[in-house]
Amino acid sequence: MEIKKFGVIGAGQMGGGIAQVAAASGLAVLMSDIKEEFTQKGLAAIEKNLGRSVEKGKLGEADRDAILGRISTTTNLADMAGVDYVVEAAVEREDLKFKIFRDLDAFCPPHTILATNTSSIPIGRIAAQTKRPEKVIGMHFMNPVPLMKLVEVIKGLATSQETFDITWELCRKFAKTPAEANDYPGFIANRILMPMINEAIFCLYQSVGKAEDIDTVMKLGMNHPMGPLALADLIGLDTCLAIMETLYDGFKDSKYRPCPLLRKYVEVGWLGRKTGRGFYQY
Ligand code: NAD
Repeated sequence: MEIKKFGVIGAGQMGGGIAQVAAASGLAVLMSDIKEEFTQKGLAAIEKNLGRSVEKGKLGEADRDAILGRISTTTNLADMAGVDYVVEAAVEREDLKFKIFRDLDAFCPPHTILATNTSSIPIGRIAAQTKRPEKVIGMHFMNPVPLMKLVEVIKGLATSQETFDITWELCRKFAKTPAEANDYPGFIANRILMPMINEAIFCLYQSVGKAEDIDTVMKLGMNHPMGPLALADLIGLDTCLAIMETLYDGFKDSKYRPCPLLRKYVEVGWLGRKTGRGFYQY
């Protein structure tokens, strides 16, 4: 199946990045969000990103204009009726994603593949909301999408080999490297990453070290490009908490309990970079 039109649900940091790489690969992209204000903010972020590449001499002005010209936006999910492949990147909430998949299943033609960028919600549970579970798959990009090479491709129990193969090829078209994972809470990336971040938050909570020192230990001691607390701020503390809850609910193992300090930050709206305050101030 040839993918000509590509849809993205959610124009936040991940949705915008996914729209950008899809448009850069030559696809016509339709990006949706619940309010025009959000789609415009998403577009502005893409423009800023591409502008930086032009400044660095990595991208020509004509190419930038062509990429932007391939992205259109909507606030009406029904417009996804015209796309061949859609990636959902709305906020990490199960009820919300379930509704989006029920709606997409109703609006999109039978051949359309419905992928989710979920960090941790089981693909099988999302697929079960639709009448096409064989066409539902996890396409988990890393943040920031234009820079990070990896895409975790997650097969639900019912995902067909054809859906998997098309997704794998799409990753290559986007100049990404896919890795295959099966459908267990957190898949591979967040099963390993998030407990490490949660443990770093416990170190802060129990005053084992200050945020800067915890991050310095992991950067210089383990050669991580970013410390775990700075990374948590980049990912978004609401997203980190949602992933820990999914791991905890899925395995019922106390080793996945979210640190109370993480919960406290989320409760007061300190969500990291996107709100200007997390473990650091921005
Ligand atoms: P974000 O908060 O930056 O963006 C989410 C966007 O979804 C917002 O613009 C919001 O208005 C929009 N939205 C909410 N409800 C919607 C609906 N019904 N229809 C359309 N849009 C809707 O969040 P994000 O960081 O971009 O995360 C999006 C998804 O990607 C989540 O599932 C998250 O777990 C996953 N993810 C995040 C990261 C990360 O590092 N942040 C990495 C990998 C995957």
